Order: sequence, then structure tokens, then C-alpha cells
Amino acid sequence: MTPPTPPTLPTVPTLPTVPSRSAAGRLTGLASALLALVAVPACAGCGRPDVVLCADCRAELGGPARVVPVPVWPDAPPTAAAARYDGAVATCVNAWKERGRHDVEPVLGAALAQAVALAAGPRPQLVLVGVPSSCAARRRRGADGVRRLALHAAVSLRSATAASAVRVLPALRLARRVADQAGLSAAARSANVAGAFEVRPHAPPLLAGRPVVVVDDVLTTGATLREAARAVTVAGGVVVGLASVSVTPLRRGLSALSGLD
Ligand SMILES: [Zn+2]
Repeated sequence: MTPPTPPTLPTVPTLPTVPSRSAAGRLTGLASALLALVAVPACAGCGRPDVVLCADCRAELGGPARVVPVPVWPDAPPTAAAARYDGAVATCVNAWKERGRHDVEPVLGAALAQAVALAAGPRPQLVLVGVPSSCAARRRRGADGVRRLALHAAVSLRSATAASAVRVLPALRLARRVADQAGLSAAARSANVAGAFEVRPHAPPLLAGRPVVVVDDVLTTGATLREAARAVTVAGGVVVGLASVSVTPLRRGLSALSGLD
């Protein structure tokens, strides 16, 4: 019997091996969903009442995407971000990451789509691979958020270019425990994530020879994206670009950000 269609993003092709969620994670997600039902919405970027994201904050996330350098990887494939991690954008991203504001995911995903399109250029097919969340982040946030952003980005990309086959592949997982990147120097961030990701057993045949863009929510030094790209490349994927919703100036981001990188 055909299982019922999920209520969100029903047309996005995904693999069946979605990372499992802990009981704590499910409770966190449930609490966020219940809170969203009873709370009066306020702009996730500036707090303006009665709106999920106001027009001004949407505009800050609306691009255009720009090519950005990857500090720890001078020879990185083309890399793009949609917005500067600052002000309302930073507040919005953190509301999504840390305060359960899943209602802004379509906007963040559309921003990510712009960055993907700039990094990869027009292609008949593309695979999006998100960086995996740390175990601590999963406990706090309840799910693999970057994968959800990638799913929204795929929807935006397919609607923008009907001929483009964009697939989201949850190809990576943590190979070992990593510390939170917040507060670490650039060198320490690289050391923290070196060899930290591995490809899931089912993924290599789906990656081999395919053009891949590795995606994340915030780009700081690029250490996490580089490690993710390494793992994808080892499995035979062809990393044609890196893309992020936002990019932070290195000086302030190293001590301000939470999450992997
Ligand atoms: Zn706003």
C-alpha cells in the first residue's frame, strides 16, 4: 500500500534513509510546533509583530547571491552565499537554528537556491548534499536542519528551471564526535572537523560521477564545507560548487557563531 504523502514538500525526491531523530529531538520538534500554534508570530529577523518575516527582512535574504572566498580553502570550487550574516539575517538564521522558527525555512531555502544557482551555473542535473549536524545540534534543534533547507532550495531551483533535475541526497554523517565550532580559531575549526564526515553506505552509487553542490546555512572559515566536500569526492561525487545561505565576516564570526561552522 502506498504510504500517505508527507504534509510538507511532497514532490521532492529524497532517499528513504533519513537520519533518525532521538526521542529528545522529537520532543523538541513537537514543543516547537505546539508553540508555533499558540504564539503570535513575530518577524524572525526584527521582531515586527504579526508576520513570519517582514518585507524588509525578506529583502535582506533575497540576494542577489554573490561569489565569496573560502578562507581555509583558496582553491575551493565556486562558492556563493545569498546574504551577509549580520543584523536581521543573523537574527533570522539563529531564530531558525536555535529557537525552532521552522516557518522561515522556505525563505532561507529560497536564499540557498540562489547561492546554489550562482555556484553551480545552469546544469541539467544536480545533487545537493548538506553538511550533517553535530549530535549536540540535533539534540537542541530536533532534526537535520540543513537537509530541510536543501529540500526547500531544490523546490525553488526546480520551479525556476523546469528542465533541471535537482535532488537532495542525505549522503553524509558524522564519523566521530566533533566539538561545537563556536569560539574556535580558524586552525582549530579545521582540526575539529578534519576527517569528521563519512558517506553513508547507500550513497556512493548515487554520488558517483554526479555534479554535487555542498550546502550549509552559514559559511565562516569554510572548514566544514571543505570537509564535507572531501567526503563527497572520496565517494566519487564531483563537487562543482559550495553554497551557503549566509556568509559571515571572519573577524566577528569566529566567536559569535554556534553550530559546526
Ligand atoms: Zn523583519
